Amino acid sequence: MKRVYNFAAGPSMLPIAVLEKAQQELLNYQDSGMSVMELSHRSGLYTDVIETAELLLRDLMKIPDNYKVLFIQGGASQQFSMVPMNLMAKNGKADYVNTGSWSKKAIKEAKKFGQVREIASSEDGNFTYIPKIDSSMIDQQADYVHITTNNTIEGTAFREIPETGDVPLVADMSSNILSEEMDISKFGLIYAGAQKNIGPAGLTVVIIRGDLIGSAPESFPTMLDYKTHSVSGSLYNTPPTFAIYMAKLVFEWLTEHGGIKAMQKVNEEKAAILYDYIDQSEFYESPVRKDSRSLMNIPFVIPNRDLDAAFVKEAQNRELETLKGHRSVGGMRASIYNAMPLEGVQALVDFMKEFEKENK
Ligand SMILES: *Cc1c(COP(=O)(O)O)cnc(C)c1O
Repeated sequence: MKRVYNFAAGPSMLPIAVLEKAQQELLNYQDSGMSVMELSHRSGLYTDVIETAELLLRDLMKIPDNYKVLFIQGGASQQFSMVPMNLMAKNGKADYVNTGSWSKKAIKEAKKFGQVREIASSEDGNFTYIPKIDSSMIDQQADYVHITTNNTIEGTAFREIPETGDVPLVADMSSNILSEEMDISKFGLIYAGAQKNIGPAGLTVVIIRGDLIGSAPESFPTMLDYKTHSVSGSLYNTPPTFAIYMAKLVFEWLTEHGGIKAMQKVNEEKAAILYDYIDQSEFYESPVRKDSRSLMNIPFVIPNRDLDAAFVKEAQNRELETLKGHRSVGGMRASIYNAMPLEGVQALVDFMKEFEKENK
């Protein structure tokens, strides 16, 4: 059977063991004679799926009891609106850090609901670094501070989570959730689209501190109020049942493999293999400042841009897929989420060496 190493930014690779388990259970889930896709979301069997998924995630991320876990739809992009709709409740203003394309979209959306202040930006350096944030920059009257912990397109990541004092910190963690240990208590709200490090597209995970729920005005749409999903256990309407089931299988896989601590270690090794090779090479370059580098999304360029297309095509012949960089950065980008095995990164570096030799 053909399986490639898929370096896509999202939707991205899933662990083979997870896909195989889903395949085994596809036609007859737990002797129900049905697929999970055909189960009622209110059935006992499905209740067990969604509750287990939440428990596993709580355990993996060490989510404190005063936080709710919500499984909803609309992608991270819908959170760009839901966050201000629900959280800009007290003073109608929020502080945002602008670290790239996704932050900019979040900022644009938030401006529709209140006063937004951009407290720091790396746009002056084409988003190749993470600006330093200290608590003096934060408006203590802001309803929240928003950051993008990992910038999927630019390949940067906050190596340190900013201290925001009493102002809740909101994080778009779409592309690095579950990749490294995080102290959840530092955040008021975390959101992530599933299709990068959790499971299939269609599911969005929101982790929210209890006291931040319930402030959306009555006039706002029911489905866009966190409270709706919180009081119903994410079952107000039909949730993305199969995507949640797949996420549960991924959480089981992570748990069996030593949890996030073990995953972080492998992720650091994988990233080091690639960065070390790029840094010693006189052929490839990383556009990202060393102190701001992502473990998950690694862009690299060849100074002779004419070679980009040949690189991507020849890599594809070696079953190394989707390495073309985002149009705003150019060059190449390797997304190496949890499901990318170390061997995949090694195979990429082996190919890069050959390509360098042939084209230098
Ligand atoms: C992919 C991504 C998004 C958009 O996610 P959707 O689920 O497609 O809306 C937002 N933020 C970040 C950091 C991302 O990587």
